Amino acid sequence: MTQRIEPALLWTGAAFVESMALVLGDDGRIESVEPATGQGQQWPERAVMPGFVNAHSHVFQRALRGSGERFPDGVGSFWTWRERMYALVSEMDQQRLHDVAVAAYREMRACGMTTVGEFHYLHHIDEARGFEFDQVILDAAAVAGIRIVLLNAYYVSGGIGEPLSEKQQRFDASGHELFWEQMDALAVSVKDQPTAHLGAVIHSIRGGGALTEMAQVAREAQSRGLVLHMHVEEQPAEIASSLEIYGRTPMSILIELAGVGPRFTAVHCTHTAERDMDDFLQAGGTVCLCPLTEANLGDGLANIPFIIRHGGRICLGSDSNARIDMFEEMRLLEYGQRLNAQARGIIHDEHGHMAPLLMQAATVNGAHSLGLPAGVLKPGRLADLASVDLTHTQLANIEPGSLAEALITGCDGSVVADTCIHGVWQHERGP
Ligand SMILES: [Zn+2]
Repeated sequence: MTQRIEPALLWTGAAFVESMALVLGDDGRIESVEPATGQGQQWPERAVMPGFVNAHSHVFQRALRGSGERFPDGVGSFWTWRERMYALVSEMDQQRLHDVAVAAYREMRACGMTTVGEFHYLHHIDEARGFEFDQVILDAAAVAGIRIVLLNAYYVSGGIGEPLSEKQQRFDASGHELFWEQMDALAVSVKDQPTAHLGAVIHSIRGGGALTEMAQVAREAQSRGLVLHMHVEEQPAEIASSLEIYGRTPMSILIELAGVGPRFTAVHCTHTAERDMDDFLQAGGTVCLCPLTEANLGDGLANIPFIIRHGGRICLGSDSNARIDMFEEMRLLEYGQRLNAQARGIIHDEHGHMAPLLMQAATVNGAHSLGLPAGVLKPGRLADLASVDLTHTQLANIEPGSLAEALITGCDGSVVADTCIHGVWQHERGP
């Protein structure tokens, strides 16, 4: 059945506009976007926009929320946090992972995220290395009703030139052959599911094994038409170790070895040098930033002004899921730069508007990063949508012309009223 929806406001990619209709086909796609006629469903209290695309999540880390925020040994760091995370990994079983993942995916959906890119490296329950946790994640996404791109991770080393440590055994991708056999099995599992998809991951230059091995994974991903994601230069220690052993930065190695192009996403790039970033953007790569997690972990601030000036494509992820809210991710992406530069409006387009670029990062750029035709309201794109409740207290006295900026600076995910995935709507809160 075709659905015709006429909301008060519709996001065009540049602004919220009035008097538009959205027609959804019965194939889970948008059929047309056209002038309103007064027919179909009238939604006078809703603004409709593309659903948010969360391009980078480690869903199991949601179980750490609140628990890693005490510092008995004094100031902590990414590395002290990682020890907490490894302790969680050692006690995870299928039921707990399922429960944590279902709850987190529901939380994502409730604040308007319609797709999650799950950067998944916690594969095994025990030494038998059966990749049991891969299917647990896919099942949890199906239960929560969120679209998932399972970005399955190749993780075989504990540091550059080092074997996996005892605490990292559950991540072991088990070498090229077994890893791709598992990818074949997962491809069968998602084949008939319109809301489950696959992508590939090299965990990082620390975790991806020898350079030849990483190049092999990148080639195989490319030959299968899969997107490829990788953690890159989140910590200065990773760059120092790469310089010491390879004499080059991780980013410069990747550009040469991993065939960086439009299907490649580098996650974080917190400490990436300008020259490397320039090469990366010219090669067509996407940068995924996770402002709330990067703040929580004390990673530092990526050079966003450089990326914006060079026309780079930025997408956003909830990463550790210490907080799940795309409005807050957009806000902190800009506010972090304001604090750093003691200036305002760091992220803006040629018209001086901040909202279009931030909304792109939260929607269409994430979809691009995950290889999905989504994140923009155009015929043929996936009907993955979110609606905003215009009667919400956070939006009282806001003019339509300021709605996008008000959402970014003044709201959280509780303003989301409904989500739609593959053409199927779900009411997220209230009566
Ligand atoms: Zn990550």
